[in-house]
Amino acid sequence: MSPGNAMVVALAASVLSAQAAETPTPRQVALRCGRLIDGKSQAVAENAVVLVEGDRIKQVGPGVAVPAGAEVVDLGRSTCLPGLIDNHTHILLQGDITAADYDDQLLKQSIPYRTIQATMAARTALMNGFTAMRDLETEGAMYADVDVKTAINRGVIPGPRLFVATRALAPTGMYPLTGYSWELRVPEGVQIADGVDGVRRAVREQVKYGADWIKYYSDRRYFMRDGALHSWANYSDEEAAALVGESHRLGRKVAAHAMGREGIESALRAGADTIEHGYGLDEQLMDVMIRQGAYWCPTIFVGAYVAEGRAAAGAPIWKTMVDVARQAFGQAVRKGVKISYGTDAGGYPWTESQARELSYMVRYGMTPMQAIQSATSVAAALLDQQDSLGSLEPGRFADVIAVAGDPLRDVAELERVRFVMKGGEIVKRP
Ligand SMILES: [Zn+2]
Repeated sequence: MSPGNAMVVALAASVLSAQAAETPTPRQVALRCGRLIDGKSQAVAENAVVLVEGDRIKQVGPGVAVPAGAEVVDLGRSTCLPGLIDNHTHILLQGDITAADYDDQLLKQSIPYRTIQATMAARTALMNGFTAMRDLETEGAMYADVDVKTAINRGVIPGPRLFVATRALAPTGMYPLTGYSWELRVPEGVQIADGVDGVRRAVREQVKYGADWIKYYSDRRYFMRDGALHSWANYSDEEAAALVGESHRLGRKVAAHAMGREGIESALRAGADTIEHGYGLDEQLMDVMIRQGAYWCPTIFVGAYVAEGRAAAGAPIWKTMVDVARQAFGQAVRKGVKISYGTDAGGYPWTESQARELSYMVRYGMTPMQAIQSATSVAAALLDQQDSLGSLEPGRFADVIAVAGDPLRDVAELERVRFVMKGGEIVKRP
């Protein structure tokens, strides 16, 4: 090494050490939790500390020392849990019990107006303890979900971490708006795509504009036959396989709306990663799901919520589907199907509690701990985010919530979240 080089190295080293001296210690926050459910283990820790440094969890447990200078938050009378994850939402929808509710939003509200409402939905969700959501299509609002996600990530508005599906896909004539005069051009609730080339191009376009997930509608026209829920599959096997194959090739997983047997079978044959609603699941289809590692997002509450209104509007099948879903859920829990929390919030108004689903899951056969894990660690695994989200462990994002009571005694306690931290920032205090 020449003397000149040595000088440069010495200079560089002194600059580095000066920088190191100026780098402030990241902000530390210590949450003192009376009880702690970590989202993964069955055990409940007493008098535990969650030590947060910057946006991540540094240490968790009963024996963790609180460093000098750390801000201490006393949650000693509360139960701490990981932030909740909802893997089926529609922030750009404000309830659609009937077709008229749905059509009104697409025909009478502009996308900017709907997006303003979506920002309120995102805020509501976060304040209720949902720190991450997979938003499964904008229902005619194009790519506005990508914009809401960007605004949240840049700190412009408060909201959960969003994983967005943008426009979703269905073939011509198989998704609203339908029933209007052929002389009118009305908005579509999805991106219409037909044929192998058509679905491939649509997937590419959605990925280009920011889709984290691809969603498509595998079926419609639900009916009961021989005690089972059936449906009409929307896509041919060739189209469905091309849609899923192209998504996977571009590194995106696929969510399939599938209610009845034919729709679920078609989606699983194509290799869809998650089955949405899936009320018509039977044991044979559950075995296929387990073999393929597919997840089920059951969305039980929304089915019960819309049933009366849709029956009154001339579709009594929705009342039958409530019973069918309850049976399927119990069977799936016993068989060990991977069940992720998903509510379809937006399919019912955002003023309803997004945590209501938990009580239904417990009533239908889960333990409160199973229901909590479905909304934390299992939901994070569906998103391939298990190293960042869904559990209170060192290295994970500091997404932490707290409730006053014991959610293992009454899971509805999670409808009254009192403390919310997202990425180390406290957004709601008791
Ligand atoms: Zn939905």
